[in-house]
This record gives sequence, structure tokens and C-alpha cells, in this order.
Amino acid sequence: MASSPQPILTRLLLTFLGFGIWMLDVPPKLRHFLWLLNHNQLPASSYLYHIRCIDSPCCLICHSLTKETASHLFIYCKSFDPLWAQLNIITQVHRLREVIFEYQHPGMWLHCLINLVPHQPIIPYVPNKVLLTYCLWSIWLARNRTIFQNIPFEVSVAHVLALSTEYWFLAGKHKTIKRTMLVYVKWKPPASPFIMLNTDAAFISNLEMANIAGVFRNSNGEWLLGFSSKVFSPNPLEAELQALLLGLNVAIQHCSTPLQINVDCLPIVQALSNVSSDDSPLMSDCRCLMLKLGNPLLEYAYREQNKLAHALARMNATTTMQLFWEPPVFVKDILRADTNEDLSC
Ligand SMILES: [Zn+2]
Repeated sequence: MASSPQPILTRLLLTFLGFGIWMLDVPPKLRHFLWLLNHNQLPASSYLYHIRCIDSPCCLICHSLTKETASHLFIYCKSFDPLWAQLNIITQVHRLREVIFEYQHPGMWLHCLINLVPHQPIIPYVPNKVLLTYCLWSIWLARNRTIFQNIPFEVSVAHVLALSTEYWFLAGKHKTIKRTMLVYVKWKPPASPFIMLNTDAAFISNLEMANIAGVFRNSNGEWLLGFSSKVFSPNPLEAELQALLLGLNVAIQHCSTPLQINVDCLPIVQALSNVSSDDSPLMSDCRCLMLKLGNPLLEYAYREQNKLAHALARMNATTTMQLFWEPPVFVKDILRADTNEDLSC
């Protein structure tokens, strides 16, 4: 360990370089390890020999007669060249060897090593600082195993990559950049001369019944016709299909203009857009009526785009179908908001 007094300027510089260590997004034990290294407080063999804990100050990894200092271990020891080569930073490490002295204070080169900027990221998404900290930590642990447990020295690059990636994605405090996309969720009018049919269902689970409803509007958003009914239905999906089927029946009876359909049930849209041999009877009926209507465009709409049909379906319907040639009072606000030009409604 460093025992000679350091010039004030050097101490200030080391403190400055070490300051960044506590900001690194790595586990606390690794930050502590870097802090010790930055202040030359890691018990390398040269120091252990100095205090008579071991018999030789030499590096037991490369078996040379060189004293094992922190600088030797992490920068000069040739045993780690394969590791640096596999990480594609061997050129930068060689350059570091040229500019530092073997017995230089670690605080002077640690900053350069941790902030190495290779030509490409060493591994995608994980910052090089995190990966290189894990490298140094793994070297230190492997070195300790060799010296104190007589286990052959080995640092697996795959293990270092796995450790750093696992930490970064599972425990890193970094902020993921959220990509947001603005989606307008207002009722979508059809292009003229089409009319839009919106259908919806409100399932009443304890009764196995559902209120089903729908509304036809033109390209100006004007109310043309609404309908609602109460039906028996074993599940919400079937209730949505029944609402669509009723809407198609009403269209055949009352609409002569081409149709577009929006429902807020994605499984129905997906099921009806694929030809399938195991259609339920309800599904087959819907296909048959859509064929009669010239296969109108059926699209998924967000619930916010389907508010009017939803409001009608929430109404307490009768078991016989009701037709609404005029909009009921309680849906007028929704109707007005849907035709308002303010897209943020
Ligand atoms: Zn060595």
C-alpha cells in the first residue's frame, strides 16, 4: 500500500478522479472495490510481502519476477491479454501501458481504464464503464482464489459479460428511454359515402345476459340509426359477436349505402379477418351477413373511439330490439364530442 506522503496536488487529483466512482451505476461492493483501488489500498502481493504475510512479492498469475502491484495486475500483467483481446480493447490497453509507469499510483490510470472508449461498444446496451468494472472485479476475485485457495487462475469472458449484463438490465438504476407515440382515440368518421357502424356489448355475468347495441353514423358524424337489445350470452366474447350480428341484420334491413364497421373487441376482428374451418355458428352467421353486405371493412377501435355504442349498451335494454331514429338524450354529449373538430376530445 502507498505509504509515502503524496504531494497535495496529486492527492487533490486522486480525490477528484475518485469522486466519479460513487456515481458509477454498479453494485456498492464494486464501487467500494474501485475506491480502494483508486487509493492504492488493495492488498496486492507486493504489500502482503512487505508486511510479511506471504513469502514472495512476485506476480503468481504470470509467474514472472515482477512485483505484483495493482498497476501490474490490472494493466501490465500479460496473462490478461487474451481477456482484453476478446473484449476488443487490447490496443487501448497497450496504449495505456505506454503512458503509465508500472509502479504508478492506481488513481492515475484507473480513470483512464474505466473510461476507455473503444471503437465500438463492447457489448450492446451495457455501458463500457460497467463492463470494465466487472472485468477488474473478476480479475481480483480470480487472483484471490489462485493465491489463497490454490485454484488455477481463470477469468471467463462469458461470465463477465453475463454478470454485467444481468446487473445492468435487472438492477441498474439507469432510466430506460421511453418512446411514446401519440394516438388519437376519438371516433373515426368513415370516408364519404360510407356510413360507420359501431357496436358494443355490456355483459351481465351473474345473469349470463348482455345488453348489445350499435349506432350508424355518416361521414359528418350525424346520427342515422341506433339499436339495442338484451340477449342471453354465455360470455363477453359471444355478446360482442351478437352485437355485431344484430348490427349487420339492421344494416341489411335499413341501410342501402356502403358500410364500414368498428368494434372494440380485437379477437373478433382477428377471427373474422382469417378464414377458419372451426367457426362458431355465430361467427359463421356474421361472415354470411358481411358477405351479403359486400364484405365491409371491419376494424378494431379503442374503447374511447366506441363511446357512443358503449353508452347505448350500458342502457337497460329490453329483450325485444329497440330502434332509435333519434339519438337518446343521454348520448347527445358523446355525439357532440365525437363530431367536435378538437381531436384531443
Ligand atoms: Zn503478472
